[in-house]
Amino acid sequence: MAGAALAARIRADLQADISEVGEIGLATILVGEDPASQIYIRLKHQAAEEAGIRAVDKRLPEETTEDELLELVGELNDDDSIDGILVQTPLPPHIEEPRVMRALDPMKDVDGLHPFNAGQLFFGEPTMVPATPLGIMRLLEEHRVPVGGARAVVVGRSLIVGRPVAMLLLHENATVTICHSRTADLARQTLDADILVVAVGQAGVVAADMVKDGSAVVDVGMNRTEAGLVGDIDPGAAERAAFITPVPGGVGPMTIAMLLSNTVRAARYRRRLLAFPGVAR
Ligand code: NAP
Repeated sequence: MAGAALAARIRADLQADISEVGEIGLATILVGEDPASQIYIRLKHQAAEEAGIRAVDKRLPEETTEDELLELVGELNDDDSIDGILVQTPLPPHIEEPRVMRALDPMKDVDGLHPFNAGQLFFGEPTMVPATPLGIMRLLEEHRVPVGGARAVVVGRSLIVGRPVAMLLLHENATVTICHSRTADLARQTLDADILVVAVGQAGVVAADMVKDGSAVVDVGMNRTEAGLVGDIDPGAAERAAFITPVPGGVGPMTIAMLLSNTVRAARYRRRLLAFPGVAR
């Protein structure tokens, strides 16, 4: 299940929406110098500029206080030329991530991490949903992987990938199991999975013989090793799976495409072209 071609198609399709909506602004905030985060921010900016979305790059030093970061979020909330705000995670340990996410204008929350948006997803009435889970669902749809009634196992329970993708799979009527670092006998769970999504951040955490024959396997992991960028799943799993996403070139490009899609959605909410719950059109 390669993601690059589908992501390119989604990005091309967004062009019509972008022309309809007019000028769109996306602001990213990066605190500190984490090398992986710097790469992600660069890729997001590049994609936004290519799509004709104005991207504003806010960088703050590692020692920035929580109050200083909240002040910047407040300024961007009030800035009418900014439709979407993305605070790159992880934040330095002295900053409480949930407090920052709570400070975002929910309509501008393109990463879907504000409790309002997370709650809407929980209710089954999604507004802003994190980009990676959206990208995973689009990949499954594109490859006509049956989700209703399937056994889906999600390994990893982060707020940005594991939990929201589990919720989307549940809403599509999969029977969902969420695994994590305290799961006893992980293989017992994964071997039962018609759909297996792994978002851990540990190369080879799922070995080839932990994958069910004929399953659809989504590898979210991005691990920098001596052998280059690898996922969380042993590539030998391709022998067993009916579908598997490559790393790189699988979930990564889909995440970027869905971030752009979320930014356009935010712009539509803000221009009242799309109803946002609780806000009069
Ligand atoms: P995260 O916040 O670090 O969470 C990792 C999860 O894995 C936690 O829930 C943890 O369990 C679980 N875990 C750790 N060791 C485990 C083990 N041995 N067995 C089972 N579960 C285990 O991760 P994240 O932000 O979701 O990211 C996960 C990976 O996906 C990273 O490699 C990241 O770079 C990548 N990623 C890729 C994209 C993309 O676009 N391709 C987007 C986002 C993230 P506990 O909760 O018990 O600690």
